[in-house]
Amino acid sequence: MFGSTITVELNNTECNKEDGYGVARFKSNIIYLSNEAHGNPIDKTEIESTFMHEVIHFIFTKLGYDELSDDEKLVKQFSKALHQVLTTQEFTDECESLGPDTAMLMNNRK
Ligand SMILES: [Zn+2]
Repeated sequence: MFGSTITVELNNTECNKEDGYGVARFKSNIIYLSNEAHGNPIDKTEIESTFMHEVIHFIFTKLGYDELSDDEKLVKQFSKALHQVLTTQEFTDECESLGPDTAMLMNNRK
C-alpha cells in the first residue's frame, strides 16, 4: 500500500494483548489477526471484516488522516460497508466488455 508492503499475520497473542480481533502496527507495517477470542473460534467472515477494519486504519494513517484513523465508529462502519461490497459484488456479461471498474459501478447503481 502506497509503496509499502504490509505483512498480515495470524497472531492471537498480539491481538489478546490489545483485547481485539485485529491489531494494526503502522510503524512496522504489520496487521495481526486473531482466529479465537477467549477460547472461542472467530468465524471467517469476522476475520475478513476485521482485516478490512485494520486496512481502513492503515489507509487513513498512511494518507495522514490520523484523526479519521482514530475514529473507531467511522472505521468500523466504513470497513463493514467495504466488506459487504467486496463480498457481494456481481459482474454481468454485458458490463464485462466495458471493463471491471465500469461493471462494478453499474452493478452498484441497481
Ligand atoms: Zn479499530
